[in-house]
Amino acid sequence: MHTNNNITMAKPTKKKWDGFSLKPKRDMPEGLWMRCPACEHMLYKSAVEQNMNICPECSHHFRIGAEIRIKYLVDEGSFQEVLSDMTTDDPLAFKFRGTTYKERLKADEEKSGVKEAIRIGKAFIKGRGVILGVMEPNFLMGSMGSVVGEKFCAAVDKAMEENLPLIVVSCSGGARMHEGVVSLGQMAKTSAALAKYDDAGGLFISVLTDPTTGGVTASFAMLGDCIIAEPGAMIGFAGRRTIAETIKVELPEGFQTAEFMLEHGFIDMIVHRRDLRREIARLIDYCKK
Ligand SMILES: [Zn+2]
Repeated sequence: MHTNNNITMAKPTKKKWDGFSLKPKRDMPEGLWMRCPACEHMLYKSAVEQNMNICPECSHHFRIGAEIRIKYLVDEGSFQEVLSDMTTDDPLAFKFRGTTYKERLKADEEKSGVKEAIRIGKAFIKGRGVILGVMEPNFLMGSMGSVVGEKFCAAVDKAMEENLPLIVVSCSGGARMHEGVVSLGQMAKTSAALAKYDDAGGLFISVLTDPTTGGVTASFAMLGDCIIAEPGAMIGFAGRRTIAETIKVELPEGFQTAEFMLEHGFIDMIVHRRDLRREIARLIDYCKK
């Protein structure tokens, strides 16, 4: 048996598959397109932004920072922010994966343009005065440390003093590990402040967005007189995998989504982002606040 050196096997080339690639072409201008994680459609970024950061194909609600959230929620230019300069200390001299807490705070301040994971102030929603708190996911994943707790309580006090409804939009990875037990203490502190506000007849509307987890879920986020969630938001305490591995049970489909929470009575309603202003205004009127 002899080999024929003239025959060369055709090697499969990457080129052949160009037409089937799901990845954007290389010459596609960077930053103009994005993929929806829910329906996988390639979306024109500015079309999504003009649609309140909601996927035009499947209504997936994209995560948004506090600045945009405030813009969507309040009457134009009505947000008067307070305590924006409050910053945290580093009580544990915390270090994680080679980065100190202080370095992380500085980096996230530069990234997000804010000094902490919640912004509070007075605002108007369809002409109704409110005290508003909005969590910032771009600052240490909206985690609650001493400053978030302190600012939250300041917002409660102000709402009580001025007899205004309190609206807080949560978007949080939970209690901030960098502050250890100091951050866990904020759970009791914020809950106690809300109990006082409740005794005084205050109205607290809690808005849960993707994600609302950990110590925030286990404290003020779930203490609303009315609890609203955005569609599809992940809401829970521990993560899905942690729970499944701890209790050795297969978790049901849709576990920890806003829809699942509504079905099981943990929240009062799911409201589409474009209806949020109208719904909050309606609730304020309904509660005669
Ligand atoms: Zn989509």
